[in-house]
Amino acid sequence: MCNAAIEDVEHIFFHCPVAVMAFVASPLGCRTEQYRGLNNKQIIAGWLSEKGNYDGFKMASCMMWALWKHRNEKVFNNKEQSIQSIIKEAQFWFNYTSPILPEEEKHHQSANTKKLANKWTPPETNWTKLNTSAAFKDFQGGWAVVDRNAEFSFIGCGTMALKVLSPIEAETRAVLLAAEFAMMSHL
Ligand SMILES: [Zn+2]
Repeated sequence: MCNAAIEDVEHIFFHCPVAVMAFVASPLGCRTEQYRGLNNKQIIAGWLSEKGNYDGFKMASCMMWALWKHRNEKVFNNKEQSIQSIIKEAQFWFNYTSPILPEEEKHHQSANTKKLANKWTPPETNWTKLNTSAAFKDFQGGWAVVDRNAEFSFIGCGTMALKVLSPIEAETRAVLLAAEFAMMSHL
């Protein structure tokens, strides 16, 4: 997806800058650099070993599916999609059970969405919160900014990839991108 590395399974789903940003910006808020050195089976086994209702596993699986579709669109149809559309697609499949949900189940789902976001604290009501993240490898940097509101909703995001000299430069550029994003969004 990034044209910068040989695409093995782990690269496509976890270490490609597109995947890194999509996982960070998703409701999982997951930093995939923690998976370096693990193969895909070990990573998935790790999600499955998390206690509870498997929501993390479910969302992560939907992210992998959306990334795979995004990658194939790019490779075979030369179509580029935004990180935002990858996350939207994953969320669609995460929430997809049947066209009409009983009220009780709807309740259950929104409670789960809040639980999923427990690693991330939302801003106060009527505020918006920007989070940044950067990835660096072999002088290739990628960074992203994510905008979310007090209702845990995804508002928007921006991403960029360039040659940089250090991880610190990538992190700094991520913060600059956040500042530009804030100005462009009139925050
Ligand atoms: Zn890549």
